[in-house]
Parts: sequence; C-alpha cells; structure tokens
Amino acid sequence: MAGLRVCSALVTGANRGIGLGIVRQLLQMSNSPKWVYATCRNPKGERAQELQHLASKHPSLVIIPLEVTDSSSIQAAAARVGEHLKDSGLKLLLNNAGIAKLNSLDTETLEDMSQVYATNTIGPLLVSQAFLPLLKKAALGSPGSELSCSKAAIINISSYGGSIGSPSGWDLMQAVSYRCSKAALNMLTKCQSLGYREHGILCAALHPGWVQTDMGSSLLPSSGSVDMSVQGVLNVLSTLSEKDTGTFLDWEGKVVPW
Ligand code: NDP
Repeated sequence: MAGLRVCSALVTGANRGIGLGIVRQLLQMSNSPKWVYATCRNPKGERAQELQHLASKHPSLVIIPLEVTDSSSIQAAAARVGEHLKDSGLKLLLNNAGIAKLNSLDTETLEDMSQVYATNTIGPLLVSQAFLPLLKKAALGSPGSELSCSKAAIINISSYGGSIGSPSGWDLMQAVSYRCSKAALNMLTKCQSLGYREHGILCAALHPGWVQTDMGSSLLPSSGSVDMSVQGVLNVLSTLSEKDTGTFLDWEGKVVPW
C-alpha cells in the first residue's frame, strides 16, 4: 500500500472511475487521511451510490457537492471544506474531474470544445484558486521548506493524450478537444508551480495510465484496472519532492514529454 502521508485530501469527480478509486484507496491506507473530501456534482444521484455506501462505512469521508464549471458551486464547496477543517488547512487537492468528447478535426464544434475546456482546464484553475487559502494554510502549518504532498500540493490529473511531444497520436485523433484541453491543463500546471512555489505548494500533472472507466473505455479499448492505476498514482504522490514541482509524470513516476 502507498506510503502517502496527508492529513486531508480533496478529490473532484469522486463518484466514479479513477476519482472513486482514489477515494477508496485513500480510505484503505494504514495511515489514511483524517479527512477525505470526495466531491461530485450530484451526491444524491444514482451515479453516487457507491460513494454514499463508502461514506456510510467511513466517518472520515465527507461528500461535498461540486460542479467544476460553476463558480458558485466551487465557492460553496471551498467554504464548506474550510468550515469543516476549522483551523487546519487542506494538504492535497486532486483535480481529477474530466470529460472527453469524440470529435475529429472535421466534426469538432464550438459547444463541445468549450465544454471540454471548461471542465478539463478552466475547472482545475478555478477550483485551485478557491482552495488556495486552505492549501496555503496547510503549507504554513508544515515545518521545513521542502515541497511535498505532505506539506501541500495541487495534482492535476492530465493525460498522455495532451502530450504534444509524445510519439503516439493517431489512436487518439477522435478526441481533439480533449487533447487540446489536457495540453492546456499541463501549461496551467506549469504556471501554478511557478506561482505557488513561494507559498510552499507543490504542483504536478499526472497521467494515470489508460484505465478501464467510462471515459477510458470510450477512448482506448485495451486498458488497465482502476485499482492498478490508483495504486501507482498514490505511490508516485508519496515520492514527490521539490524537484518534481512543475513536472508531468505518469502513474509509474516516469516523466511524460510536455
Ligand atoms: P470517468 O468518465 O469515469 O469519470 C469522470 C468523473 O468526472 C465523474 O465523476 C464525473 O462526474 C466527473 N465530472 C465530469 N464533469 C464534471 C463537472 N463538470 N463537474 C464535476 N465533476 C465532473 O473518467 P475517468 O475516471 O477515466 O477520468 C478521471 C480523470 O482521469 C480525467 O481527468 C481523465 O481525463 C483522466 N484520464 C483518464 C484516463 C483513462 O484511461 N480513464 C487516461 C488519462 C487521463 P459525473 O458522474 O457527474 O459525470
């Protein structure tokens, strides 16, 4: 099991797929966080039943409504988490929520491109802005200057599909808006790492592997399990340090070309 040590973590898009897997494994860790905030856009909906079931068994799991394309929802979520944490800050923010739309260069539209950007790129920007005061508080409360997830971190779940320098390409040509949005998310991560370094907050982009989820199966048919991916992701998070802020890594800790 991963050696990640954080006393609080928040995951967006936590009701299914990789987000739900992250929440599940965070709760199973021997040194599980004191608080795990699982956010999703419709906590009472059918798609959040597994998450609700987990919450009934784990008092440390707090479900918070959060639609990442809605500023007032983001502000309300940050306020609720702040009230719940009282005097402590938030250690780890995982911007995981994302969508993919299947469009080629010929069929891409203003509506689809805008929605994908709003969710995958602008969402993580606004969510990070809203939770910044709590992340700063966590960093201030940690002794030492070395960056790590135990001090305070923003992790943006990106994708190999957003890597401009990667050799692959044709297999994902039906996901143009998705790829552009993740390339932009990578640049956002770089900007965050430069801007938040002085506040003691580590920022990195992570490719979780090709994973069998609703999204993963729609993009690439042959992929790995959520459990394997999440185990890798949490292991990588436990090893991140100063040198890793502003980098793009995969679930095995390998550097992915921007
Ligand atoms: P899923 O489609 O299984 O889950 C996506 C999650 O994001 C759901 O919880 C969904 O909630 C949530 N979500 C979507 N839009 C919003 C929104 N506007 N506000 C709040 N939540 C939202 O995808 P995965 O679990 O596979 O993907 C998770 C992350 O991993 C994504 O960022 C994806 O790009 C990335 N990734 C995945 C890969 C894979 O192979 N699966 C490969 C590379 C990267 P709801 O149920 O309400 O729709």
